[in-house]
Amino acid sequence: MTTKDDCLFCKIVAGEIPSTKVYEDDRVLAFKDVNPMMPVHILVVPKSHYDNIADDVSDADMLAVMRAVGQVARDAGISQSGFRVVTNVGDDACQSVHHLHLHVLGGQQMNDGNPSLA
Ligand code: AMP
Repeated sequence: MTTKDDCLFCKIVAGEIPSTKVYEDDRVLAFKDVNPMMPVHILVVPKSHYDNIADDVSDADMLAVMRAVGQVARDAGISQSGFRVVTNVGDDACQSVHHLHLHVLGGQQMNDGNPSLA
């Protein structure tokens, strides 16, 4: 597992900063977003540090993250009603935490293009 000293989500993965964990396996941690934009707002992160999805993500970590998204959605009870998966990359997308994470958003009807994570 690669880590970065000044990375918030690396610290959450290491247990140095608390989080509300909803899923964990060897490669992935998923926890509730501290500032939820929807009734269900979960962040799915690889335990290894990658800056974003355009980083050189290993096949194993990419697969694990994507599989975890489905598991998290099923566990949260939103896989039938529907949900949205968003990952922000870089300044134009207003990425604020520079550790790859997928937002899993659901639990209420969304309008097209809503929510904006800008
Ligand atoms: P982004 O803007 O795509 O980088 O998203 C970063 C997300 O991390 C935001 O939705 C924040 O609310 C969330 N966040 C920041 N700090 C924490 C934390 N300590 N625990 C859980 N979520 C966090």
